[in-house]
Amino acid sequence: MRCVGCDGQASSPLPFRYEWEARRFVLCRCSRCGMISLDPQPSSAEIAAFYSEEYFATGLHGLDRLGTDYESVADTGLDAAVRFLERDVLSAHPRPRSLFEIGAAMGHLLAAGASLGLECGGIEISPEAAARARDKFGIELEGGRIEDLDTAPHRGRWDVVYAGDVLEHLQDPAAAVAKVVDMLAPEGVLVARLPSSFDLLSSRLAIRVLPALGRTVRLPDKPYHLHEFTRRSALHFFRRFFDEVEVDSSLIPPWKLNLKSGTAAYRIKGILHWVNLPVTYVSKRCGDRLVVRAKAPCSRRVVDI
Ligand SMILES: [Zn+2]
Repeated sequence: MRCVGCDGQASSPLPFRYEWEARRFVLCRCSRCGMISLDPQPSSAEIAAFYSEEYFATGLHGLDRLGTDYESVADTGLDAAVRFLERDVLSAHPRPRSLFEIGAAMGHLLAAGASLGLECGGIEISPEAAARARDKFGIELEGGRIEDLDTAPHRGRWDVVYAGDVLEHLQDPAAAVAKVVDMLAPEGVLVARLPSSFDLLSSRLAIRVLPALGRTVRLPDKPYHLHEFTRRSALHFFRRFFDEVEVDSSLIPPWKLNLKSGTAAYRIKGILHWVNLPVTYVSKRCGDRLVVRAKAPCSRRVVDI
């Protein structure tokens, strides 16, 4: 399987898998850049099925377990969305006047951007979510996959392109970021937020211990994440496209985790998360969240590792 991070050909399986519709998807790590990807990759039809209307009602990473849905959560967070935009996204650009969101869902973040006077645009793969953005906020989103977007109307137009928890869901994140490079205005910046569960101390330990025990772990959820970034693989990946790349690592505090209780493995994971807290605080490494700020697109397309 060709690596989407570096085009490398060699990878090795990790002791983690998803199972869905009688299919098994094994997480494999590229020997060259560390990008983790599912082998095999779900088909385009399977991926379209993942993001049916149900995704925003029950499928969004455990919202069903919390007894709520995406729109209810997003509706109560509109003020927080404005603060988040100003503090964590727009601050990456000296004079932001426009914002394009990849994976805009029902348009809540773009509505917050419009309230700040920004020109806003976005793309969303779910037709149901895009229709809701139109009805609710009057926002017209592009439909379909960012990898397929005709960038001609967007070329050099956007000061900030934001991708929050989306690149790991894409079949070809490199094709997506290549589109972003076309879309950014001079001085434009891509801000991407990514989960990085495999940077955690508990994941590093499991990768070493489980094979020795002859065990693999079945991960919950559908195989939404086609790829998993780590700080190292994210740096390699974004440097293919940009000269200036910052990657910050942080940790969701243990008291905010929704860990399944009961099994010994999850209890150990919970304990290690407390150990992880000071490690990430001091070193800015080994967290479970990454924020990438990438600017100054480069003409290089050759991987330099
Ligand atoms: Zn690679």
